[in-house]
Amino acid sequence: MTDMLTRYAAIVGNEVIDHLYQLAEPLEGMNVVHVNSTREGGGVAEILHRLIPLKQELGIRAGWEVVSGDAQYFQCTKKMHNALQGDREEIPDDLLQHYETTNARNFERLQARLKDSDIVVIHDPQPVPLLNLCHDRKGKWIWRCHIDASRPHRPVWKYLQQFINGYDASIYSLPAFAQPMNHPMYIIPPSIDPLSDKNIELDEEETNAIYKDYHIDPERPVISQISRFDRFKDPVGVIQAYQMAKAFGPPLQLILAGGTATDDPEGEEVLAEVKMAAKGDPDIHILMLPPDAHRTINAIQRISDIVLQKSIKEGFGLTVTEAMWKGKPVIGGNAGGIRIQIVNHYTGFLVSTPEGAALRIRYLIKHTDRLKEMGATARAFVLENYLLTRHLREYLTLMVAVVRGVRERIELFNNH
Ligand code: UDP
Repeated sequence: MTDMLTRYAAIVGNEVIDHLYQLAEPLEGMNVVHVNSTREGGGVAEILHRLIPLKQELGIRAGWEVVSGDAQYFQCTKKMHNALQGDREEIPDDLLQHYETTNARNFERLQARLKDSDIVVIHDPQPVPLLNLCHDRKGKWIWRCHIDASRPHRPVWKYLQQFINGYDASIYSLPAFAQPMNHPMYIIPPSIDPLSDKNIELDEEETNAIYKDYHIDPERPVISQISRFDRFKDPVGVIQAYQMAKAFGPPLQLILAGGTATDDPEGEEVLAEVKMAAKGDPDIHILMLPPDAHRTINAIQRISDIVLQKSIKEGFGLTVTEAMWKGKPVIGGNAGGIRIQIVNHYTGFLVSTPEGAALRIRYLIKHTDRLKEMGATARAFVLENYLLTRHLREYLTLMVAVVRGVRERIELFNNH
């Protein structure tokens, strides 16, 4: 076992790691490339930064490519993102044309890699048309959808489907997100890496530095939400919940920490709305963090009494997993992937309104024994279900199945 995998074994047990070796054996030396549209910001980049090195550690030649584009391209892909999550976005033809041309330009740059790979994993809608451009491909292509596409705006979905249907398989985080396709579909929820800067244990000094650095009072309760400034994350709803909870008692402080993702053009606008809603309250701390502020986010989650993720739509919500892993109860929007993480009343609370969130905040601040108990259950739930090793096991199983063209079950022979 390599040093890196030994560190994972200390958390999840040797058996889990042995299983990974067994599954990776038939894939040894294979070329696998993941393609998405940003190296920084958002959950997909967060996962790829961790998943790819671990695949490499198991002998797979895994790599990561990023499609690039101008503001118009990202305007189009953001509209697609919003439409897949249910917004009635009409995307003009010239924007779609620009989307396809941008993909064609990216294909020119990436074609050698894409043609030669045994497995190509395309993440989300941004690079989807690359497949149609790759006429003499050698490998299998998989579309990985991270979005809550359970009720997409039909015209946009139909447009994308003409590309997606050509893939050999697709992956969704939840069964509800899968749309009918003419290829095998897999359910693989995302994960967090317990050894990353975002999630690793921190010493008290580093954790407590947050109080001084951001002028937070250590004596008063802290609630937080870490998210891109995106309307689907409902940051204004979080401020409303905080205001309602505070009006009835606890002297709360709120941290809203976010940053910008290079593929999200709406961030500035939403940030302005958030600042407006927070105006005049010195206990609301809006932090714009750089993309590599992983340890800072880790520490903010650790000093929080309660973490919120009040999303209205959510593919998965890695921030929920991150907070639960730190033993925090999460109050989350009753949406998408948050539902498979928050077991209502056990690992946190599911809410649909700012009023509901305010009620749960007050309850947990008052009942500290419940707060601790829920936090401990949350951590145990993540250990069992949402760590990187489980995620990788499912990816490897899928890859073996796709490469061998097996639909029902795969047989492995252990030569160790
Ligand atoms: N994140 C970050 N900086 C920020 C905001 C978010 O590093 O300013 C991270 C966050 O910790 C999480 C990921 O970005 O790991 C967001 O993933 P999630 O699935 O919660 O949401 P997405 O942005 O993909 O919709």
